[in-house]
Amino acid sequence: MGSVGAMTYGFDRFLRYDEYTQWLHDTAAAHPELMTVESYGRSYEGRDLWLATITDASTGTHDTKPAHWVDANIHSVEVTAGVAALHLVHHLVTGFGTDDTVTRALRTRTFYVVPRVNPDGVEWTLADSPQMRRSSVRPWPWRDAHRAPGLHERDLDGDGRILTMRIPDPNGAWMVSELDPRLMAPVPIDGTLPGVPRYRLMYEGEIVDHDGFTIPTPRPPEGLDMNRNFPAGWGTTVRGSGDHPLSEPEIDSLVRAMVARPNICGYNAYHTSGGVLLRPSSTTSDSNLPPLDVWAWNQLGERGTALTGYTVHSVYEDFTWDKKDTMSGAADDWVYEHLGLFGWTTEFWDVVHAATGTKQSTHFWYVGPTEAEEHAVLRWSDANHPEMYTDWYAFDHPQLGPVELGGWDDMCSWTNPPLGRLADEVRGHADFAVYQALAAPEIEVLHTSASFLGADTWRVEVGVANTGWLPTHVSTKARQERMVLPIAATLSGAEVVGGPARRELGQLDGRAAARFAGRHDGTPDRTLATWIVRAEAGAEVHVHIAHQRAGSVDATVVLGS
Ligand SMILES: [Zn+2]
Repeated sequence: MGSVGAMTYGFDRFLRYDEYTQWLHDTAAAHPELMTVESYGRSYEGRDLWLATITDASTGTHDTKPAHWVDANIHSVEVTAGVAALHLVHHLVTGFGTDDTVTRALRTRTFYVVPRVNPDGVEWTLADSPQMRRSSVRPWPWRDAHRAPGLHERDLDGDGRILTMRIPDPNGAWMVSELDPRLMAPVPIDGTLPGVPRYRLMYEGEIVDHDGFTIPTPRPPEGLDMNRNFPAGWGTTVRGSGDHPLSEPEIDSLVRAMVARPNICGYNAYHTSGGVLLRPSSTTSDSNLPPLDVWAWNQLGERGTALTGYTVHSVYEDFTWDKKDTMSGAADDWVYEHLGLFGWTTEFWDVVHAATGTKQSTHFWYVGPTEAEEHAVLRWSDANHPEMYTDWYAFDHPQLGPVELGGWDDMCSWTNPPLGRLADEVRGHADFAVYQALAAPEIEVLHTSASFLGADTWRVEVGVANTGWLPTHVSTKARQERMVLPIAATLSGAEVVGGPARRELGQLDGRAAARFAGRHDGTPDRTLATWIVRAEAGAEVHVHIAHQRAGSVDATVVLGS
């Protein structure tokens, strides 16, 4: 239970904005030595965008350590993602001092967690009368909340859910399934015999400007997809991409908050659904990426699969059905293409896997489940979570007259798990975030010395090493495109002769490089910085070693000790 602070939360329900805000601040107040909360911007509707910063302050401030960034809920209805982010916060603050791995991570690493990128859209989703939107609630592309003719999703009968409307129609594409009379199955390609009841299926909603014959399905007036608004391959042909890159205040603020933290070495964006760990690229084949980067991603992903049960996929290779119609402007692509970081889009929850033990096809985004899969899920819900499916019941629709409502409640079936499964679903992902953080490069000083050269002159040596797995530049992409500044070492406390006080030491490999050196790998993780200084015996000189990603450390060398 998350009973840190004043408010108790067991990761077994979705928090409205005020409760979420309170839980975050209560948790920070209960762990002042580990956690702070700040606002990094405001949403379209004016809500504060919260960022939690978590590290052991006694071993250095957050900006002196390599960091891992996790954000969640850029998409409104994917509320499991926000639960996972809050669970990560809880895992870190309660694991410090009790869990050796978490303790080590917080001593040497920083975590930045944004549990709700899009608080407005989540608030609309969780309202008593919910309105499900893709992401932002800003009207777009029309600036007024123009409602096009056709069906607009709405909870018509006031039960707090948006179910499916079943409308009798002899030309409908759906019929009762032979597997279960509650289930709908597609009418066969060659049609049905006369007298077989057929239906149209539509989301529960009202029809604007109904002409009595057609029911168009327009996009909602709030048609943005903020995960297409990042400045990576941004384009107007991508659905919901916005007016220009960073046109949305939530994304502009997020990108600025990340760029202001150049110590970030890894990235997770939390979404639903699918039960997969997706990685870039969304727009090009793995053969167009540096092979070492694909290798490193898959190395990290292997452990991700072991910890979470989720499989690893390139969005382009495995999830893009039409390779000519790719999805650009997404957060993880921006993080790789502009920052050179290994980012992941975690899609929580695969109900087919929960019910059958077999994963859905990676094309389920396009073609949905099979009839057999849906039937298996229904039987599983009957036995375990009957709230997932509602049998058809009569409803008098304001425009259509008598129809039926029923079917899946997506909020606790296909899009998000039933509440009773939330905590189990997100648990392993906190461990994966910690694992990625510990893979980051980390600068340490392993050697210091001062040798007397005669008169008042000394040679000072500082041996610097990257003790992390990844190189200090993190990816080959980042190194090739010069995204990362070199290590800088600056000596103070004595007069430096024959050279500058500040030295640039380049980048250092991490342990990952050893895999490519045929087991005879030398010391590509080390460098030795030397200065000639003039000072009296017994003087102390200080060396400050800083790298934007791998952290900063200080060393003191006593001359003649
Ligand atoms: Zn999503």
